[in-house]
Amino acid sequence: MIQLTSTILKNMYTMLVVCKPFDNWNMPLPEQIKFIVDHDPDTMGTYLYDDGGKHEHVITISAARCGFLDTVIRTMAHEMIHASRWNTSTAAWQKHDKTFRHRAKLVADELGFDPLEL
Ligand SMILES: [Zn+2]
Repeated sequence: MIQLTSTILKNMYTMLVVCKPFDNWNMPLPEQIKFIVDHDPDTMGTYLYDDGGKHEHVITISAARCGFLDTVIRTMAHEMIHASRWNTSTAAWQKHDKTFRHRAKLVADELGFDPLEL
């Protein structure tokens, strides 16, 4: 099992954000994001946009749900699709709507994930 740390998460984000299609999506810089490892048994990961916080963006990954590198990177990619929509006026970044699914398909095709799992 991977011993997950916020440093690993930040470096993983830094790697993925320069890959297509993320490199075209006006993603937050790694420095603008707080990366948290928690142990939530129910949620693999979350993305939160909060412009009142010290960091505008928070990505949390659960070590209780992501034990393998493969799972962590897939969960990170999922949360990054949410993060790619941070500047939407209607808080669409929370949704798993048509736009989310379209972006998930682009990520899956480019990076080799199962789009239905992403
Ligand atoms: Zn989601």
